[in-house]
Amino acid sequence: MDDDHFRFETRSIHAGQEPDPETGAVMTPIHANSTYEQDGPGEHRGYEYSRTGNPTRSDLEANLASLENGEYGRCFSSGMGSINTVLNTLSAGDHVVTGTDVYGGTHRIFTQVYEDYDIEFTFVDMTDLEAIEAGFRENTELLWLETPTNPLMSIVDIEGAAAIAHDHDAICAIDNTFATPYLQRPLDLGADVVSHSLTKYLGGHSDVVGGALVTNDPDLDEQFGFYQNAVGATPGPFESFLVLRGTKTLPVRMDRHCENARAIAAWLDDHPDVETVYYPGLESHPGHDLAARQMDDFGGMLSFELDATLDEASAVVSNTEVFTLAESLGGVESLIEQPAPMTHAAVPREDRLAAGLTDGLVRISVGIEHVDDLLADLETAIDAALS
Ligand SMILES: *Cc1c(COP(=O)(O)O)cnc(C)c1O
Repeated sequence: MDDDHFRFETRSIHAGQEPDPETGAVMTPIHANSTYEQDGPGEHRGYEYSRTGNPTRSDLEANLASLENGEYGRCFSSGMGSINTVLNTLSAGDHVVTGTDVYGGTHRIFTQVYEDYDIEFTFVDMTDLEAIEAGFRENTELLWLETPTNPLMSIVDIEGAAAIAHDHDAICAIDNTFATPYLQRPLDLGADVVSHSLTKYLGGHSDVVGGALVTNDPDLDEQFGFYQNAVGATPGPFESFLVLRGTKTLPVRMDRHCENARAIAAWLDDHPDVETVYYPGLESHPGHDLAARQMDDFGGMLSFELDATLDEASAVVSNTEVFTLAESLGGVESLIEQPAPMTHAAVPREDRLAAGLTDGLVRISVGIEHVDDLLADLETAIDAALS
């Protein structure tokens, strides 16, 4: 089904998928297969080799394109695979403007892989459009942004940023992993490319790693397709199937993620041991108004700063029973982590503190369990460690 007039909830279940014409199977089969019979030399029926194209992957690509209101989707074996593909379109001597607090793996591939290939990166405060503008040079080809950011949930003005990129004839790519297309559709706001780690909310069950790119630009899609096949970081049919299964429940899962996160943010905001809560749904959050405009809800990720030492905060995140102490995010189960010794351990302490990532900062990925169990779990863990 590719009827664009259906609503998001309907497309999340049906877009890109039809019952199997041969058997009537309602679900897309896992096409565990590498090569395809040809009717004559060079005469194939749409597929010739599974790195180049696989029917299970094709259904997922069409599904994700529909959810992002895009024409073209491409899937990769990880979110890093999708980010790498956008970078593959650049040439030595090109320049990229990006944010100081992009995902750690994104920062790593920029500075430790592509700088060696003579691509230059300027890191700016993404929440400041003037800083973004000031980062541009004659040779800037790409503006790469993320919103909400990790772990302080800063909100970036996608429409404003895309306009700046286009003034400079550059491409604007948005990593939409935290928000998901259910809450935010960057292509509608002027972005040229949306990138995803399917590992997070789109897969939704912490059981698969994958990535995707969606665009409305046929030339960009053709390049993405070329590098997808030439580099080969493609997902297998089983991974594609798992993500297709995940996107069917994305709307209902996201509704609950948002509802639980809202309740936990409000509870933490009133807690005497909590100094600051970083959740765009709170009116006190600096990005609240912008988030209310460009997102449909505020998501399931939040961070909070405990009035605590590094060790005390470590004790809190180690004492939960329902929340699992783990990196990553976006699954049905709640996760808790302490950025300083975990996700942001590679950032030097001075830089980390300057960026607002204090020793007492805790990040949670709010799952879809009963919110009262989550609140009681946090209360017990905080009390045990801090009193
Ligand atoms: C996890 C993540 C990535 C990388 O995705 P992988 O699937 O782990 O390769 C990129 N961007 C963001 C925002 C992420 O959270």
